[in-house]
Amino acid sequence: MKKKLSLLLALLLLYPCLSAPAEEDEDLLIEEIVENVDLDAVTYGEVEWTFPIPLEDMNPEYIRLANKHYLLADDYVPQDLVKVPSKPKNGGIYWAVQPKGGQLLREECAQALCDMNAAIREAAEENGYRSLYLKSAYRSYQTQRTMYRNRLERNNGKDDGWVSMPGASDHQTGLGCDVVPSNWRDKAMNDKMMKEPECQWMAEHCHEFGFIIRYPADKQELTEINTEPWHLRYVGIPVAAYIMENGLCLEEFTYELQDAIQDFLSRGGNPETVQPYIQEPAD
Ligand SMILES: [Zn+2]
Repeated sequence: MKKKLSLLLALLLLYPCLSAPAEEDEDLLIEEIVENVDLDAVTYGEVEWTFPIPLEDMNPEYIRLANKHYLLADDYVPQDLVKVPSKPKNGGIYWAVQPKGGQLLREECAQALCDMNAAIREAAEENGYRSLYLKSAYRSYQTQRTMYRNRLERNNGKDDGWVSMPGASDHQTGLGCDVVPSNWRDKAMNDKMMKEPECQWMAEHCHEFGFIIRYPADKQELTEINTEPWHLRYVGIPVAAYIMENGLCLEEFTYELQDAIQDFLSRGGNPETVQPYIQEPAD
């Protein structure tokens, strides 16, 4: 309230400089000016939060970055993993019975993926899209370590950017999943998949369900991962919309958010408010 009053006072003082032709109604003009100023800027305590997304619209766990600089611990296991329902007719998504116990994802992410599959199935009636197929979901640190070792062995000990090192995999978050059109379920994955209408549909609509394309084609330098049109990452709807609309990757989003946090702290913001959102690289 105090802020509102002082802003109004400032505007009144400024009024002579802002004034329009004399015939206009003065009171109306001031009202219009006040209306156009954002009086509801988000503040925590007395300190303004300048980042476009309020903290309460971001779940710190859902925006957690996992890459070779921001490593997950070997005992990091997400708390609310659930088996993804596999029957599309009952609101699920097809997957193979590969991992013991089925394909797992964090609960909210699993639901979002099923909702997205239901949406493309609905669109399929008009556009002939194929169903989506969940090729890979949660992977433990230990599974990732085995996959990484196998890949290095097959590739003369060289990391070719196709399999992440243990702790660096987005799959360990329980929020990363490989989703392909059903005709690709048994094919080797490569970036030709990007031409498939289902992948284009996903790129266009995934944010509506809280997903981003985790490894976009034009961000390889930042993600250090080859482009993967099939790898979706759940971050929640407000963050996904921001990332996809601004053409970012999760690394860029993280740097922007960390800058905003530093700025907030430098203006006297309460460290406890932002603490859960602070992420630092291991190296
Ligand atoms: Zn993946």
